[in-house]
Amino acid sequence: MSYSATAILSVYDKTGLLDLAKGLVAANVRLLASGGTSRMLNEAGFAVEDVSTITNAPEMLGGRVKTLHPAVHGGILARNLASDEEDLAQQNISKVDFVVCNLYPFKQTIAQIGVTIDEAVEEIDIGGVTLLRAAAKNHGRVTILSDPNDYCVFLEELATGGISQEARNKFALKAFEHTADYDTAIADYFRKQYSESTKQLPLRYGCNPHQKPAQAFIANAEKLPFKVLNGSPGYINLLDALNSWPLVKELSAAVKLPAAASFKHVSPAGVAVGLPLSDLEKKIYFVEDIENLSPLANAYARARGADRMSSFGDFIALSNVVDLSTAQIISKEVSDGVIAPGYEADALALLTKKKGGKYCVLQIDPDFEPEAVESRTVYGITLQQKRNDAIIHPAKSFNNIASASTALTEQHKIDLAIATIALKYTQSNSVAYATRGMVIGLGAGQQSRIHCTRLAGDKADNWWLRHHPRVLEFQWRKGTKRQDKANVIDLFVTNQVPEAGPGRDEWESKFAEGAVPALLTIQEKKAWLSQLTDVVCSSDAFFPFPDNPYRCAESGVKVICAPLGSVMDKEVIKVVDAKNMIFVENEIRLFHH
Ligand code: 5GP
Repeated sequence: MSYSATAILSVYDKTGLLDLAKGLVAANVRLLASGGTSRMLNEAGFAVEDVSTITNAPEMLGGRVKTLHPAVHGGILARNLASDEEDLAQQNISKVDFVVCNLYPFKQTIAQIGVTIDEAVEEIDIGGVTLLRAAAKNHGRVTILSDPNDYCVFLEELATGGISQEARNKFALKAFEHTADYDTAIADYFRKQYSESTKQLPLRYGCNPHQKPAQAFIANAEKLPFKVLNGSPGYINLLDALNSWPLVKELSAAVKLPAAASFKHVSPAGVAVGLPLSDLEKKIYFVEDIENLSPLANAYARARGADRMSSFGDFIALSNVVDLSTAQIISKEVSDGVIAPGYEADALALLTKKKGGKYCVLQIDPDFEPEAVESRTVYGITLQQKRNDAIIHPAKSFNNIASASTALTEQHKIDLAIATIALKYTQSNSVAYATRGMVIGLGAGQQSRIHCTRLAGDKADNWWLRHHPRVLEFQWRKGTKRQDKANVIDLFVTNQVPEAGPGRDEWESKFAEGAVPALLTIQEKKAWLSQLTDVVCSSDAFFPFPDNPYRCAESGVKVICAPLGSVMDKEVIKVVDAKNMIFVENEIRLFHH
């Protein structure tokens, strides 16, 4: 009997199989099928031949080898080339035109509770993947059907004279995606079985406790670039760690000083480099009782001290090996975890005692370089982009000055690098104010630019007001905790101390007997704030209105750095010039989400 074409059918999911076979028979197509598929067609009365008719080999190894044979794959992979035809003729193999295949249910099997590795292994389809790949590879000639939903369209085309190249392309893409998804599930399963804590880390839950299961993993690398030395990081801890680590790594390399970041909810609350602390600064940052502060300790004291309210329960990133003095500061603060390239033994011993022994300590491989392309899935859609590998450097990134005044100092450039690198890892929109080696105010995640500028400016003001002599003279009631002190100071500097009632009583209760301070008057605040000078301000995108530089000027900003490109650029620079500030163009926009 002579047929118009040949089809090989080998499907686990037999939905729609009989209707498909009916259409194929109507088009005079020869049907070849593997064991179970053949049986079902046979029982339904179709003239079907077992694949073994062409392989002359029975299914073997309990079904592990069914269609794996040159008679099958030669017939599928042959092109319309004379040399291919010759090869087929020599081996007495006929061409295959249509392949219908879907795979063993690996995902469903491993989703069952208590499934063993042996059971999972048996659900790894070999021949089916080969059928799909071979037919999809040769889609110039062969049609591959991997989804029962496509049978109908296929039959309609077949009935009208043949399958178009366009349809074959579409079906081939689907088959490639089917095998890719299948292999992803297999790799994921075995990563969990064979490389937990090496390439894969189970997480208690995702962003929220009901978001289970959750995990972190790395594919295409020997191991995760960090080790968990203590505790068990959560999903948000890792988001913080993996954003804050590159920040301090880049900042330290740019400024050539140890760097520290204090992160909360995937944005920095503080970022600083290790410039020495004056006695006054030690007092403001609550570290006066710690001896021999190292440069790294100075960096963290500053980062933590910039916005103590926001840093409560932070995740910390440190650019250098952590020494005892840095660990001593951390051990006194409420914090969730730390990431650093290493820990001295006494520092690690101290940190692992924190939080009842549960403090999260991560050691990062400082040489790790992430892949150039990064992907994430949002609402089922994969988004992909080149990683933001822009390099920000004090000597190279701030040379495009667009204002009348150009008197940029070396310290300005360092502070601009600190503020700008911080923004590279801050949820947008974002604006950062920095001075003397540290971010002093950061406005993150606001939808409008001016709200970032105000928020960052208000935080910078609060930071400066915490230097006010009256704050430094506070006499605390014995036993007042660090965070209570921070809360009391914050109410004081932000003029939010309740006038009367339980809130006021609570506030006053933190002071020593008879030592409740007088509140700052508006004039006193103004006078003190006017002494804040030489601040730099960086913005992750252009300023759309001149209200931004006006607000900056109120918090002692001398240098503004932002991309240009707004229709209001001229207006913005006019204000910068009128306030005798400097405007440095940032040639790259730094949105981060
Ligand atoms: P059937 O029900 O026809 O016996 O088997 C169909 C399933 O076997 C399909 O899911 C197909 O992907 C798979 N399959 C086809 N050829 C082979 C093979 O040679 N080895 C293995 N392990 N699976 C195969």
